[in-house]
Amino acid sequence: MKKYLFLTGAGISAESGIRTFRDSGGLWEDHKVEDVASPLGFRKDPQKVWKFYKERYHQSLSVEPNPAHYALKKLEDHIGDRFHLITQNVDGLHIRAGSNRVLEMHGSLNRCFCSNCKARYQMQEIDLQADIPICNKCGSQLRPDIVWFGEIPYFLYEIEEHLKKCDVFVVIGTSGTVYPAAGFVMTAKLFGAHTIAINLDRPDNFSFIDEFHQGKSGELIPVYIERIMESG
Ligand code: NAD
Ligand code: ZN
Repeated sequence: MKKYLFLTGAGISAESGIRTFRDSGGLWEDHKVEDVASPLGFRKDPQKVWKFYKERYHQSLSVEPNPAHYALKKLEDHIGDRFHLITQNVDGLHIRAGSNRVLEMHGSLNRCFCSNCKARYQMQEIDLQADIPICNKCGSQLRPDIVWFGEIPYFLYEIEEHLKKCDVFVVIGTSGTVYPAAGFVMTAKLFGAHTIAINLDRPDNFSFIDEFHQGKSGELIPVYIERIMESG
């Protein structure tokens, strides 16, 4: 019985109405990534960074998961522990679609933590009216729980274990440019997995892909998942 590991990027959420980096010419919703997605950017202007993530948080709540997110949830229900999902996305749409075995390696718009005592909060528990929300345990500034450029992604140990064990590694809606995620396909292939990419354009790490399906994930993923469920 095959073990399936999926890696998703911004492209899987494009059909839900969230723009990818590539759509925006390398910007994140018209902002330079160094301003809104780096520790230095936060130190320089925490108010601006908070304004940006509050907008992203509210945007993520205003959209819905699409057929690709729901198809992955369906596959997980069907094959249980033989399914694991890594996402680079921070929009929470896999969790809202009902997926459980999800590793949000770049954090989540739904959470923040204290820059001093590290206390963790859900966005819905904090005062989002404040320009810079404050920790109610120690009074320091809170920051979004997003892995910014220059920071270490979450779950790298678990991810490596999954990459070594999986039989099929499927990469969906990611340009293959942001490391370390862009290197996962190489690791999986070296450890013997069959690698598949489902993407609108050729990803940059194309040379490590055994099978490429070009198109929209909302259309291709449900069909691909039905095929897996039929074949086991
Ligand atoms: P990217 O923007 O670099 O690449 C997106 C890829 O998805 C492109 O190759 C594009 O061809 C493809 N794509 C676009 N629409 C598609 C569709 N409908 N179906 C299939 N493929 C489609 O995204 P990335 O590789 O994920 O890197 C961006 C980084 O920015 C990530 O680390 C992520 O944390 C962050 N980000 C997240 C979100 C989100 O949470 N939704 C949005 C923007 C950026
Ligand atoms: Zn604190």
